Amino acid sequence: MRIHSAVRLLDEAAARFADRCAVEDETASLTYAQYRDTARKIGAGLLAAGAVRRPVVVYLPKSARALCVFLGAQYAGCPYAPVDAHIPMARLDKIIDSLRPGCIVTDGTLAPNLEGLDLRGAKVCLYDSLAASAVDGERLDAAAGAVNDADPIYIMYTSGSTGTPKGVTIPHRGILDYADWVVKTFGFTEETVMAGQAPFYFDNSTFDIYGSIRCGGKLVLIPDALVLYPLRLPQFLAEKEITAIFWVPTVLINIANSGALEGADLPALRTVAFCGEVMPNKQLNVWRRALPGRTFANLYGPTEITDVCCYYIVDREFADSEPLPIGKACENMRVLILREDGTEAAAGEQGELCVLGSGVALGYWNAPELTARAFCPNPANRAWGERMYRTGDLAFWDGDGLLQFCGRRDNQIKLKGNRIELGELETAAMCVEGVENAAAVFDKERERIVLFVETQGTLPLRRFNLELKKHIPQYMLPGQLVPMEKLPHTPNDKIDRQALKAKLDGEGSEHV
Ligand code: AMP
Repeated sequence: MRIHSAVRLLDEAAARFADRCAVEDETASLTYAQYRDTARKIGAGLLAAGAVRRPVVVYLPKSARALCVFLGAQYAGCPYAPVDAHIPMARLDKIIDSLRPGCIVTDGTLAPNLEGLDLRGAKVCLYDSLAASAVDGERLDAAAGAVNDADPIYIMYTSGSTGTPKGVTIPHRGILDYADWVVKTFGFTEETVMAGQAPFYFDNSTFDIYGSIRCGGKLVLIPDALVLYPLRLPQFLAEKEITAIFWVPTVLINIANSGALEGADLPALRTVAFCGEVMPNKQLNVWRRALPGRTFANLYGPTEITDVCCYYIVDREFADSEPLPIGKACENMRVLILREDGTEAAAGEQGELCVLGSGVALGYWNAPELTARAFCPNPANRAWGERMYRTGDLAFWDGDGLLQFCGRRDNQIKLKGNRIELGELETAAMCVEGVENAAAVFDKERERIVLFVETQGTLPLRRFNLELKKHIPQYMLPGQLVPMEKLPHTPNDKIDRQALKAKLDGEGSEHV
């Protein structure tokens, strides 16, 4: 049977590289044969649990086990939705409400957190019992075979400006094309060893997961605690003989600043790719000097595209003040820079970066209006309704025909590599007793969010953040809280964010 689902990448790798190590975490290591067999057992268990064609929430720590569930869901013909093991329950509740999943896969440690949550009919499945399922090969093959490459492979929740996370839905063909592109562009083979830094609920992880399966390489998951210690990461790369990394710039910056690259001996490391935020040349140059002759690549893409749609292989030295291009479109992808009236901007003229091609998401799960706003027909080609994603990013084509990124046109920010809609924080703040209105401003210079709150009483920051943590992840918390009697407004009655920005670090505020 011809399989159109991306799970065929695992079948192919298991057929060619059965005994080679596929994935390693702190506690386990799986060969490709074991990876496929475990995933098939999980697929069979999910089918038995009735998860036919319905989303499977993966509520597990970042681990080889979670990977087996991602692939297992595909064998069962279901899309998977990874969520953070530390997710606040109020946020998980919103995700379950949006998803209406068939199953939630978790473990004995996390399962008690689900008690008291309205699971909207979803069945809770424990990993260990799924992984012990008996496989009815014919039934499983039929389930995987019924999937079309335009069907969803995963749904990844990203910050939503109205306070509700948005479920970006990616099709199988997006992953199939992306995995091909990754392997071809970076010349990966079965000798490739990747070190997976990105959390699984962040789409950068698809580079590691599917890039490594596509080439039959090994994926080593970096223990979460280690990512916080930049001084120890180069040592980890050396010990594990890592050949390729695809990390968020914040981590690379921390390593460069820590001095850990001085004298580091990393002969195996050939590829250093990064994505998710601006990589400053100052720290990039520290890396390039420490690792001469290696490939450095600036990749660009929002969650709404299968990870990446543009790339630039760094081919020269950049001065600290020069912009680092995001380059050109990947294969199967196309980029347009559009003016507000939908016409194409001229070279050098700034406009909105819009993306077309096989990696474009199907839309936001169960949110047709949001989808229609962000995914629209290419205005230059309405004839057959070519779908385009409007990123909200501003960019222009430079004199060398390369794309230059110029920031956002809205209130979305990146803080330490995490995508945050300030509106989501503001909505959570309004849930705190005593808060009548809230407006968040990003203090770029000090790398923190400042939250202005309209309140009559006093609100100690730590207690306030404890309340917020019930609704939003740790990385969205404000670093400074400014209580005000009344937020300033513009003449047309919008909150005056410019006036708030002018107040940054004013008096009467609290810092963490
Ligand atoms: P996310 O959905 O978390 O992947 O975040 C996507 C956003 O991150 C993009 O819309 C950009 O604003 C920003 N971004 C991603 N890659 C880059 C890059 N290489 N340089 C600058 N900004 C980036």
